[in-house]
Amino acid sequence: MSKTFLITGGAGFIGSAVVRELIGQTGHRVVNIDKLTYAGNLDSVDSVAGNARYTFVQADVCDVRAMQRAFGEHRPDVVMHLAAESHVDRSIDGPADFIQTNIVGTSVLLEAARGYWQALKESAPQKAEGFRFHHISTDEVYGDLDGPEGLFTEVTPYDPSSPYSASKAGSDHLVRAWRRTFGLPTLVTNCSNNYGPYHFPEKLIPLMILNALEGKELPVYGDGQQVRDWLFVEDHARALIKVATEGRVGETYNIGGHNEKANLEVVHTICDLVDEMTGPMSRRDLIKFVADRPGHDRRYAIDAGKIERELGWRPQESFGSGLRKTVAWYLENRDWWQRVRDGSYRGERLGLTGRR
Ligand code: NAD
Repeated sequence: MSKTFLITGGAGFIGSAVVRELIGQTGHRVVNIDKLTYAGNLDSVDSVAGNARYTFVQADVCDVRAMQRAFGEHRPDVVMHLAAESHVDRSIDGPADFIQTNIVGTSVLLEAARGYWQALKESAPQKAEGFRFHHISTDEVYGDLDGPEGLFTEVTPYDPSSPYSASKAGSDHLVRAWRRTFGLPTLVTNCSNNYGPYHFPEKLIPLMILNALEGKELPVYGDGQQVRDWLFVEDHARALIKVATEGRVGETYNIGGHNEKANLEVVHTICDLVDEMTGPMSRRDLIKFVADRPGHDRRYAIDAGKIERELGWRPQESFGSGLRKTVAWYLENRDWWQRVRDGSYRGERLGLTGRR
């Protein structure tokens, strides 16, 4: 049966992949609520913009009235909350927006959802019974792992290191509190690092791809031995839709790619792929080690056994195949990232170019 999904942050990297997957691969309706911060880019959902099942609403999740209105007007069956400030370096330079959007914004959305759900229980009990609030979070809430052994599980205690991960930890706690205190039918997922098409070029993988393409320096923090688990964004989008539609209410699911890589190894692989796809030149020579980020976590690794066992989800891409697709996408979609780099993706939104 066709449902209405209210997606927050659907113009961002992961949210746009969820929106494209829902519109492209299912018959569900999507209401995309996004403030369009610097990270929100409507170009990323251009392919679905004309679809009758898709609606875009520009709004801030911290805006109580706008959130109440969105629930009242669109009457969602499922909420997938992805809107967040998401870049660790920016959270170190200025934590305030992270506290506001990630913590305050999540509480506003939870309250709007609770009011709507409680009213539904009176007016449409069956719809209330099926309602779900899915909160999308990160494995960074667990802090880091000491040494090469061990994995984060759903019961690993929280120990966040950065203002970003602390604000996401706060939002996870709020969601669980709304479950325990008010009975709101919530689900939480914590995922490892994503990579893939439409990734904003301030993050490690797209930054390295674009700098390598342009023959610029490739800055690597510290010794480059920080280990991250990487998941292709479209695999994450499929996992999220599975959890939102089939997951057990009240549960947490960890999502990961079984792809633990040191940052330096990731950069080496990108250099080799760009060399192979664009002609002979040793991009590895462009690597430059720079001062490490304060509080930089050494290793994250995730045990995704629960979602695999309970919901039958598995990533379809290996790191090698996913990274190859990603590099190829950036080569073929220069227009997308050039409009990000020159800022025109935002100017257009303000009606300055008149393309949309
Ligand atoms: P992103 O920064 O690419 O996108 C965030 C989106 O949220 C943008 O479109 C932005 O405009 C919107 N937004 C920001 N503040 C808002 C507000 N106040 N109101 C409405 N919209 C607002 O982030 P992403 O990488 O797509 O991450 C999405 C979610 O997934 C986040 O909650 C993040 O914590 C989580 N996550 C990300 C990763 C990753 O590797 N990127 C991994 C695990 C979990």
